[in-house]
Amino acid sequence: MDIFVSIANSIADIAIILVNNRLASDSFLAATSFASIVLIISLHIRGYKLDWPKRLIKSVGANIAFLWGNLLFAPAVFVSADYVRHAYDAINLPHVDVNFWSSVPAWILVPFAVFCFDFANYWNHRLMHRSWLWPIHAIHHSDPELNAMTTYRVHFLEPLVMSISYILLLSWLGFPTDVMGVGAIFVTLHNMYVHINVDWNHGPFKYVIASPRMHQWHHADLPKAYGKNLANVFPIFDVAFGTYYVPGPCKEAFGVQGAPENDVVKLTLFPFAEWGRMVWRSVRPSQNAILVSEPDQLDTKKHRAVEPDASVANS
Ligand SMILES: [Zn+2]
Ligand SMILES: [Zn+2]
Repeated sequence: MDIFVSIANSIADIAIILVNNRLASDSFLAATSFASIVLIISLHIRGYKLDWPKRLIKSVGANIAFLWGNLLFAPAVFVSADYVRHAYDAINLPHVDVNFWSSVPAWILVPFAVFCFDFANYWNHRLMHRSWLWPIHAIHHSDPELNAMTTYRVHFLEPLVMSISYILLLSWLGFPTDVMGVGAIFVTLHNMYVHINVDWNHGPFKYVIASPRMHQWHHADLPKAYGKNLANVFPIFDVAFGTYYVPGPCKEAFGVQGAPENDVVKLTLFPFAEWGRMVWRSVRPSQNAILVSEPDQLDTKKHRAVEPDASVANS
């Protein structure tokens, strides 16, 4: 009987977390509205002809499947993140008191919170491009046709990794929840914007706010561009840490060679298969010897998908 009570309690806890998590529901609503506006504008530009290339339709379909599919994993993400938050609070590290921000006007606090969030995100993103985290993040890069919905093409493990590191990196700043909520909506909308496949570069403001052209180079299937343009919102982080790369309009192909393109099930299983291969290779010295002795393999199709141990993996 106790088991039923504890299961019921857990379900109630998850429901409370979901209801309380305005951050998620607000950004979901804003994203869905923005996607609808982008869809209507796209249809208008194309004279309401549904003549989208098949590849684009497949890509958008996969991205929407990820958006809805990841909602199934949302409770697990929130509950795990909540445990991390409790454990982090229990350590009792010093942090800025929430009242500290009460005298700062919202028009300063929200951009500042987004700036701090983007700084944390830059380093999160940099890590996601390396080693064992790359097979998770490769799902986002697998999209062969960038579109606003590419924002939602993320493996369910990615929000888990990201939210845990946000807790560790940002909790001590103690921003009010509503400030984080407004900031999250802006970040989500901007993220959808940079995935639109247009060659906009923001002219003199190209270092102020990330443009679609900048993010296209992040997705470019070109060794020179791997691991570049990691900042989501503020290119200044890429400039400061030496990862800014925008040589002109991006005409390169997108996607990750060796990874599935739009098969949602295969993409979801992809990180586990990659980790299995990485473990297998690490226990087979002969394979390692080949990789070390033939560095020209580093840019091969096989390397791109399964061996992201180089300092910078595919973008
Ligand atoms: Zn992207
Ligand atoms: Zn990336």
